[in-house]
Amino acid sequence: MKLENKKVTIIGAVRSGEAAALLLKKLGAIPFVSDMASQEKIEKAVETFRREGISFETGGHTDRVYDADIMIVSPGVPSDAPIVVEAKKRDIRIISEIELAWSLCNASVVAITGTNGKTTTTALMEHIFLCAGKAAKAAGNIGVPFSSLCLDTPADGVVALEVSSFQLDTIDSFKPSVSMILNITPDHLNRYENSFAQYAASKHRITMNQDATDLLILNADDPGLQQFPPTTRATVMQFSMEQKITDGAYTENGFLICARDGKEMFRFELAQATLRGPHNAMNMMAAAIAALWMGVTAESLTDALRSFPGVEHRIEDCGEKNGIRFINDSKATNVDSVWYALGSFDYPIYLILGGRDKGNDYGRIEEPVLKKVKKVYAIGESAEKVERYFTGKVPVSRKTDLKDCVESVLKEAEEGSVLLLSPACASFDMFDSYEHRGKVFKQAVSDMLQ
Ligand code: ADP
Repeated sequence: MKLENKKVTIIGAVRSGEAAALLLKKLGAIPFVSDMASQEKIEKAVETFRREGISFETGGHTDRVYDADIMIVSPGVPSDAPIVVEAKKRDIRIISEIELAWSLCNASVVAITGTNGKTTTTALMEHIFLCAGKAAKAAGNIGVPFSSLCLDTPADGVVALEVSSFQLDTIDSFKPSVSMILNITPDHLNRYENSFAQYAASKHRITMNQDATDLLILNADDPGLQQFPPTTRATVMQFSMEQKITDGAYTENGFLICARDGKEMFRFELAQATLRGPHNAMNMMAAAIAALWMGVTAESLTDALRSFPGVEHRIEDCGEKNGIRFINDSKATNVDSVWYALGSFDYPIYLILGGRDKGNDYGRIEEPVLKKVKKVYAIGESAEKVERYFTGKVPVSRKTDLKDCVESVLKEAEEGSVLLLSPACASFDMFDSYEHRGKVFKQAVSDMLQ
């Protein structure tokens, strides 16, 4: 992409917008950033623009945004937003930040999308490549904008890139060496006019420019992908927990096995992995297929799966006291995630549920709760709803906060128990974010461990 002296409007200043503006300035383009938010809300970005002499406007978009050759739209802005529609009318080229970074990046890209598991798999991929001695970086939705590192990664390096369907809506020539769709479950449907087909089509775009030299990895067990399989020119491999796979990966008797043309290439005992639970077995299968395709040796892959430290706030082991294990799964903000978390541990579990309820149907987790949960600790705004649903099914106790949960479990639980914070709710009733909630939980645990 020729960028010198090109006028580029960036809609959305935070994180990827800021990184894109800096990158464009460096390359001799003329960036202009426009954001709906007030200056105070995006203070850090504004500071950067002032320091770097990048033009910007806040508190709304003026017509100046259309004085551009290219428009880069933040993933937060829908493709049918009036500003995007008008820009298209005026023949302004619209691209996403990942398209921009991709066009400037020499390293191979492993692109990861799906409704759930993206961050875990992206972090795992980075770890696997680092263990194999490659220059590897995790980027994208995981928190590090692709634009901030696309020029620095060498040609023999790898970028593990977490991409959301929103970002895929505005790619053009983006062609990852490996792409994967971990799963497609109904989510974000408000953004796609309630059309599941449209949401799936958006995810399929990850492979639209791939050819047979590239690899597409798919979840063979996923109902969404079965209903809407992507069309592709890429080489396809699949993974499954339910059936033997000829080209790809599957699990059998507690082992993760990768095969090509029906021949076993890799075998790993899942009990040796730091990641737990069936959902993580799926994430590991996808990552293992990608790693072997990219030339990582079986030995190095085994070491990496054994040593991956995991991702904060996702079934994170925070230690043990009196034989009781403490697990932080604060990222579990819906019942689906709790279902997977419960699948990762055995009875007796003390489960912390509650927070800001987004219309939870606890029926989805009733079966594993009855089987594995000794007691539910109900917290936050939705404590009453949790109590109402589970009373009479399992013992429920209201708790004032996370410290109260930690203290209580130490008093009442026997050795071998697990205290699991997997609240099925957003955190905003009591905390700034799920990260904040997780940190408060970990602090309460570490105070106890002293
Ligand atoms: P994402 O980045 O897609 O939101 P994360 O890796 O942050 O995914 O995981 C979010 C939550 O989803 C975790 O709490 C975990 O319980 C659940 N999860 C992780 N991987 C999967 C998967 N492959 N399938 C379903 N749920 C998953």
